[in-house]
Amino acid sequence: MSNNPIYAAIEAGGTKWLVSVGTSPETAVQTRIPTEHPEVTVGAAVDFIAEQIKQQGAIQAIGIGSFGPIGINPDDTDYGVIGKTPKPHWTGVDLFSTFSQFNVPLKIESDVNAAALAEAKSLLPNDEGRLIYITVGTGIGAGVVDNGRVSNGVHHPEMGHIRLPHHPDDNYAGHCPIHGACLEGLACGPAIIDRWGKDLSTLGSSHESHDIIAYYLGGFAANLLLTYAPNYIVLGGGVSLTEGLLSRVRQQAFKQLGGYLARFNQADGLGAVIQAPSLDTLSGISGAYLLAAQALQAHCA
Ligand code: ZN
Repeated sequence: MSNNPIYAAIEAGGTKWLVSVGTSPETAVQTRIPTEHPEVTVGAAVDFIAEQIKQQGAIQAIGIGSFGPIGINPDDTDYGVIGKTPKPHWTGVDLFSTFSQFNVPLKIESDVNAAALAEAKSLLPNDEGRLIYITVGTGIGAGVVDNGRVSNGVHHPEMGHIRLPHHPDDNYAGHCPIHGACLEGLACGPAIIDRWGKDLSTLGSSHESHDIIAYYLGGFAANLLLTYAPNYIVLGGGVSLTEGLLSRVRQQAFKQLGGYLARFNQADGLGAVIQAPSLDTLSGISGAYLLAAQALQAHCA
């Protein structure tokens, strides 16, 4: 094995797939494929990897971080299979079988778990500590990494669907097709557009929407601090990029904790914990590379 193995890494998102082949996310050759009918999107990803193998040489492992729900336990029959999703034609799509055709070690995780892995690698030296990565975009999801490994239960967490109290000035019924006003139903990108007609950046920072969304995300962060006691909570995804939102989320988390966790004796104290992604928009694809490396390592062990 060479010192720098060539990997195929896929960030399989709900609106686009990023497929990358190379030795690192920074130097790899990559392509973006819109998430359309699975035959088209998955087919294009397979073709791209096959073409890159011709150009770069054999790959040694594949890592995939996928939108979910997706089976993430290698011992289960639904490993790498997309679960029940409102996205047309995608329920039951078997990523594990499809990408097994390359005959290399393969590891599949949820997209947020992959991003969490990469952020943890970046922010927690020596793989010590706990990090939670939250994405707020077309949906809301969160993944937990403990000491350098993704922490799942019998399935990957579905924290976007927890319930939080309504903001006193928000009577929106919610956007989630299953729960209505769960966290995702109240604070994801489509819920913002459905409620106010525009995204947060366009609405402007003095619009009530900013305080309302920060109330929900701050409440979520406070709950995570209370339940997981993480070293870091990283807030990623398109909605989180809204200017000024991160600071409001910290303030809301501080307010809703009510001084209970003494180590955060002022809102500034949360600045060290609730952060923007250190890898900018590369968290997801970097995580897929780490998954590939873990697959290869497990195979060689
Ligand atoms: Zn829901």
